[in-house]
Order: sequence, then C-alpha cells, then structure tokens
Amino acid sequence: MQLYQNQELKIYNSLTGKKEIFKPINEGHIGMYVCGPTVYSNVHLGNVRTFMSFDMIFRYFKHLGYKVRYVRNITDAGHLENDADEGEDRIAKRARLEQIEPMEVVQMYTVDFHNTLNTFNFLPPSIEPTATGHIIEQIEIIKTILDKGFAYEINGSVYFDVLKFNETHNYGKLSGRNIEDLIHNTRSLDGQSDKKNPQDFALWKKAEPQHIMRWPSPWSDGFPGWHLECTAMSTKYLGEQFDIHGGGMDLKFPHHECEIAQAEASHGKSPVNLWMHTNMLTLNGQKMAKSTGNFILPNDFFTGDNKHLSKTFSASVVRFFMLQAHYRSILDFSNNALLASEKGFNKLMEALNALVNLPVGNTTDFDVENWKKNCYSAMNDDFNTPILIAELFSAVKFINQVKDNKASITKEDLETLSATIHTFVFDVLGLQNVSSGNEDSDKLSDTVEVLIKLRSEARANKNFALSDKIRDELLAVGIQLKDGKDGTSFSTN
Ligand SMILES: [Zn+2]
Repeated sequence: MQLYQNQELKIYNSLTGKKEIFKPINEGHIGMYVCGPTVYSNVHLGNVRTFMSFDMIFRYFKHLGYKVRYVRNITDAGHLENDADEGEDRIAKRARLEQIEPMEVVQMYTVDFHNTLNTFNFLPPSIEPTATGHIIEQIEIIKTILDKGFAYEINGSVYFDVLKFNETHNYGKLSGRNIEDLIHNTRSLDGQSDKKNPQDFALWKKAEPQHIMRWPSPWSDGFPGWHLECTAMSTKYLGEQFDIHGGGMDLKFPHHECEIAQAEASHGKSPVNLWMHTNMLTLNGQKMAKSTGNFILPNDFFTGDNKHLSKTFSASVVRFFMLQAHYRSILDFSNNALLASEKGFNKLMEALNALVNLPVGNTTDFDVENWKKNCYSAMNDDFNTPILIAELFSAVKFINQVKDNKASITKEDLETLSATIHTFVFDVLGLQNVSSGNEDSDKLSDTVEVLIKLRSEARANKNFALSDKIRDELLAVGIQLKDGKDGTSFSTN
C-alpha cells in the first residue's frame, strides 16, 4: 500500500479558483508539466522560486509513492521580446550582442541554470525537452489547427484565430478575461502585422532575412511561436490530457491561455486538469528590477556581493527561507528576514543532530502520532510549507526539552519522530544539513582569518608569491578571498 492511498490531498486550481481534492487521471501516476526558462540570461530569483515550489511538490508526490513524470522544458527558440509576436528572438538578440552563435547562448545559460538549481538541491525533472528539438511536432500541431479551421496563413506566417475559436470555446477562462475586454484593451495593429485581429497569436512566423534561427515548414522558412512549444512537448510526453501544468503567475496570460486554446483547437479536449501558479517575489517590499538596482541574483547569496546583503547565506538557508512562505503568497526578501531564517534553520539542524544521542525513557510527553498527522495535513492542504515548518518547530522544542532532561520519549516514539522529521526536512523540503554559524563554521572562519592575516603580512613584505599562493590554494578548496576597501573578506561555495 502506498502512502497516497490514505492521504487526501487538496490543491488550488487556478482554473476554478478553488482548492480541489486531487485525483490523478491514472491511479498512482502523475503527469506534471512546468514551463521552463528561456535560456538567454542568468536565471533570476523569481524563476528559482517557481522551480523550487514545483521541486517541493515533485518531492512530496514522490514521497507519497506516486510515479511522477515531471516535464520541464528549455525554451531555446521562438520566445520574442514582447508578447505581441514582435521584436527579436531573445536568444538571437543575445547572440548578436555577444557576437556568438545562438546555440552558444543556449548552452551557456542552460549550464548556468542547471548549476544554480543543483546548488539549491533541486531534483532533476524526468524529461527536459527543448523547443528546437520539437520543431516537427510543432509543425504537425499547426497543420491540425489549420485543418480544424482555427488558424489562417498569411504571407508565410500562421496565426491562431482567437475570435473564431471563441465562438465555440472559451478563450480567457484561465486568466479570467473575456473577449470583449481583450478586444477593448489590445492596441490596434500598426500596419506592420499580418494578423487579422490583434488578439490573434503566432503559431508560425516567417523569418526575416536576417533572422538566424529558422527551420523549413510548409508555409515558409521560419520559426514556431513561443506558446506552441509547450503544447507540443506536453502532449508528446504526457498525452492530450494530463494532471498538472504549472508556472509562474506571469505566464497565465497570454502563455497558458494560448496553450489551452491550441490544445482544445487541435485535439478537442481541455489539456490540463489542474493549473498551478506560483506567486512573485519582492525585495524590501518593492518589485525586483535590475533597472532600479532593487534586485538579488541567486549567486549573490553565496558571494555576499550585493548591497542588500550584509553577509553570505548558504543555499539551504535561502531554500528554507523561500519555503517559509506559501507558494501562492508573495515572498518578500530582506536581509533581516534572511538572518532570522538562518537562526531558525540552524536551530532545526541542531535539533536533528541532537536526535542521535537523545536519551530514551518509559513514557513520551509529546503526541508523536498526532504531530506526524499534522505534518501531513499541512502538506495535504495545498502544500502549506509554512504550516509544516511550524509543526517541525514544535518537534524541535520537544527535542530540546528531552535533551535538557525536562521531558521524556520512548525508543519507539523517538524512531517515529526521527524518521518523520528527516523525511520532511530532507526528502520533502529538500534542505541539506550544512548549518552556517555553527561551531564548525566558526572554526573555519577563524582558520581563514589566520590565513588572511598571514597573506596581508606577506603582501606587506612584498612576498607576492606567498600571498598569491595562499589566495589560490584557498580558492582551490572553494574559499574565495575578496579584497575590499575595508580589508579582505571571504566566501565559501
Ligand atoms: Zn510554457
């Protein structure tokens, strides 16, 4: 018997606006698709949060005993600079600016994406398909949509006919928009566009002569529209109807709305039972934006090299911090909140370490079974990680009481408590026991400080061979020295 058989899991469905009891299409199996990154720049923190939420969800499903096929794509073509099917391809633009091939851009930022996610201890998805690897499938879907009469070809490009589709279907049902508002709010065509109506979106675009990323098709040498790749890849790997589709809430419209329209137009069925969207994040209460300087890049936590951070933070502390907010709530980053999270995280790890040597007695002054049930209830209520973490801390409090001989636990209850807390902390939340600010890391800082002092003495004596050697050998073991106007600091990675 699998765990999921006696758990009732409720998940908030963006399509209905309600929490629903989760029932997969095929018992024991889950198909989940999450829109992956467009690999034209370093992954930003908002993306990390979205993918971390789905990593936690993937982990919990697996823990419950489901066989999960988790598909997360890589967008390596077709994503233009704006949503109105205009502007340059984001990857081609970066390639032009950096004077490299588009596929070099793709490679560079795919590697960066994977490295960042590995640092935060993400599980890899089951399949990670690319848009350029599925051009044939995308062309096939366009042919079907044309055959069904929901698209039209003009000058080598093919557009989805939103008004025609809306006569028999409901365009806007996911994002809660109706067609009249869309018509009213969409700016009129500028004469450059071939579209019949501004609401229509591209399924295939004819490439301009200077456009490098192009493929042959029945209509022109060109490239597929961005929305189409997700329909092609989700259908190919998860079927015409699957359980869960997720992404950041900024993708609801137009991206996910268009995915629904494409799938319904081509195979006549609503593609997804449950749509899940993660909320955005802010920094010190303000929207994160490079242009205003109000932003943190994922790597900044490990180098400490950011004006909003007073020190470095480990990946597990950042992960813990992010999971302290529910995935549908706005998450506000600040240095103080991170410092508080770090304290909590260390306390949790200390309690886990203490479990090994905890004395056992004849009675238990804590309802372990009920606590365990509460941990599952928190997760079963739309993956409520903040409530789960609060439950974990009630166990931490009890563990510390036992440690101080103020409470007692039996051997059997200790085993249950220990197994449960390990499961939730490491398997479900995906944290790693690398506490910062503990005794070991204090010793490490003291040791590095000694070396920093020896290095500045060497430099004062003009012994640069020695000072460089200290710097390089520390770097070789993952400790980076940074010389600033207030002296030398270090970071570990
Ligand atoms: Zn997508």
